[in-house]
Amino acid sequence: MRLGVLTRLVAAGLALAATPAGAVAGGAEPVRLEFVKMGGIPVRVSAWDVAPANAEGLGGACDARLDELEGKLSAHRTDSLVARISRGELRTVEDPDLAAVLGKAATVARRTGGAFDVTVAPLVDLWRKARIDGAAPNAEAIDAARSRVGYRLLGVDGLDVGRLADAGGALDLGGIAKGYMADAVLAVLRDRGVRRAIVEIGGDTAMYNETGGAAFRVGIRHPLRRDRLLGVIEVNGGAVVTSGNYERGFEIAGRRHGHVIDPRSGVPTPQDLLSVTVAAADGSEADAWATGLFVLGAEEGSRLAAGLGIEALFVVPGPDECLRILGTSGIIGRLQLHEGRTAEPAASSP
Ligand code: AMP
Ligand code: MG
Repeated sequence: MRLGVLTRLVAAGLALAATPAGAVAGGAEPVRLEFVKMGGIPVRVSAWDVAPANAEGLGGACDARLDELEGKLSAHRTDSLVARISRGELRTVEDPDLAAVLGKAATVARRTGGAFDVTVAPLVDLWRKARIDGAAPNAEAIDAARSRVGYRLLGVDGLDVGRLADAGGALDLGGIAKGYMADAVLAVLRDRGVRRAIVEIGGDTAMYNETGGAAFRVGIRHPLRRDRLLGVIEVNGGAVVTSGNYERGFEIAGRRHGHVIDPRSGVPTPQDLLSVTVAAADGSEADAWATGLFVLGAEEGSRLAAGLGIEALFVVPGPDECLRILGTSGIIGRLQLHEGRTAEPAASSP
């Protein structure tokens, strides 16, 4: 697959149209639902063509499914499956949701050479403590945490949690769980006869459209300017997910660090890449790839994405306070930057 990169410079200070983040679609007014989950993450649902008989109980069903998944996948809930595995209390995965997440995570871990790795938890913990202490960890502490990290500990299918526990490892599904939860809410809506829907969880957007109506227009947030959009991407279904350090980065001794950690080096990813947006067939895949490509960086990440047919858009700082936007050809064709122009794939190849 050709890599259409080096598309356009966008002035970082440009006043972009104030379309709300998330997505809009044509047609009659949707049923809208809103929840707050995982200690403060907003979940927004829009469902179109909902028969009155199906509307009743729709919110309750979505809410219950989200709570169920949070109870299984959250690293912060002491009673979750993930927490029990991390304490070595559960040695096999019987739960279908956890098995599905770990299976998808294993595929992306393998394909990114371990840049995406749900066993990154000891390093996440180490850097969380560093943030509280205000001092970066030393090399020994990083090495000690790294020795307990590695996607191979989970075996080829990603399910060998007993072996992970024996190695003193732990799970952190923060890089994939939101996408999986968005998929799960869509499944609830589908089961109830909803024919077109969109779910947004903390910026991860997943959707489907069985009506043949207008495509969804999903806003891509400007990585440096909250409440502004860089542009809009048109999709008929699947998911659009962005990973970036801009939301949850932190500072230690005057140096900024991101919340995404490179498991290979044990340190947070450098700040030269601002964000990665991935469009994929479903939320968990898009979520995992966005995090994995973010770790790999614009150069290596765009090469890998182009080679595997992953649709990805990388935003890096450009000259004169501009942003440089690099994308694989599939995503560029569906992208409208908010300068009023559509990006063109460049003639360059890998
Ligand atoms: P996201 O916002 O989807 O990019 O996910 C970031 C979250 O994933 C972090 O807050 C951690 O919980 C977790 N995480 C950090 N580094 C990695 C990594 N290299 N691979 C997988 N998950 C990670
Ligand atoms: Mg992610």
